[in-house]
Amino acid sequence: MRKILVSGGSGFIGSYIVERLCRRSDFDTLVVVDNYWTGLPENLAHIRDPRLKLVNQDIETFATAEKFDEIIHLASPASPPWYMREPIRTISANLIGGMHLVEMLKPRGRISFTSTSEVYGDPLITPQPESYRGSVDCTGPRSSYDESKRCTESLLFECQRTRGIEARIVRLFNVYGPRTRPDDGRAVSNFLSQALTSGVLTVYGDGAQSRSWGYVEDIVDAMERFFWLDQIDYQGPLNIGNDREISVLEVAEFIASIVPGVRLEFCPPVPQDPTNRRPDLTICRQVLPGWVARTSYEDGVRRTLDWFRSQIEGGANTEPPSPIRLVDGDDEDGEKDEGGDRAREVDDAQPLVAPIAAAGGA
Ligand code: UDP
Repeated sequence: MRKILVSGGSGFIGSYIVERLCRRSDFDTLVVVDNYWTGLPENLAHIRDPRLKLVNQDIETFATAEKFDEIIHLASPASPPWYMREPIRTISANLIGGMHLVEMLKPRGRISFTSTSEVYGDPLITPQPESYRGSVDCTGPRSSYDESKRCTESLLFECQRTRGIEARIVRLFNVYGPRTRPDDGRAVSNFLSQALTSGVLTVYGDGAQSRSWGYVEDIVDAMERFFWLDQIDYQGPLNIGNDREISVLEVAEFIASIVPGVRLEFCPPVPQDPTNRRPDLTICRQVLPGWVARTSYEDGVRRTLDWFRSQIEGGANTEPPSPIRLVDGDDEDGEKDEGGDRAREVDDAQPLVAPIAAAGGA
């Protein structure tokens, strides 16, 4: 019987992947490692499967004597406020996590990885095919996420070339839906949280920047086919997303049209905010014939709104994190202090490469 490991399985997308895995009958062990940084225990609380083992730990330090037939590496924040708050930890989760995970694969095992449309940066061509090499600033504000995804792609392709393992890499475009954290901070989730609380939707810049918004169940349909269901002779990278491109302003206006009493507020633009994103799905259509992002944007947003309403009625926090600042004397509100916050952040910093714990975890 097969053994499977999922890193980040209690997160937004991870929890759907774990649900889908549990429909399979060809494995006896499913280890989910999640440190609940952005994942939530309640995302998997409904699953009653004796094969499922949950481990609350950073993926970089997880250790076990077990080897796995399949590993799915999802551990990483995906929302800019979350990864910008802890950029080094983000690099570590993706890259050090990925390096650690390949050591846990059986010979000829398969490792699947969620990369991102962020590898295209602020793209100069549209739509973006997988062959486009991107326009990324490797020291910019988004670089911890973009570059660690890019480097982990590189790592896995090189492991495939040199170690005989199989890598499956998807590049996800923007995904939204139920189980996004109400304090996630990405556009759809932030606007929904704001619509149901303050009633003020914060549009950054003029809102003309656009994205391709995919409903989570559709995106996970494609991931499941690519990662394990279909017999596919293509390792990726594979763009997965909805190729209907919609501006941020249109998203905000649509949400304002379905929630009474909501207004838009235009805020300063975000530095290096990509101007556009749309997947070229030519390869996706060849590799996953018949797959389409079938949920209309309007239906998906309405469904997500219902879910957010239930979360907020249940008392969920809706405030996304603000960035950690280590500029001399600035505290998190941008006010001068006597160095206390800076000292605290530095004292609490984790070592850049976490020590690997002794074997015997799961
Ligand atoms: N955005 C916005 N207001 C918000 C959150 C996001 O205008 O409250 C914009 C953001 O500047 C970006 C787009 O929405 O242009 C998508 O942002 P998101 O964080 O969802 O994902 P990204 O594609 O930037 O990683």
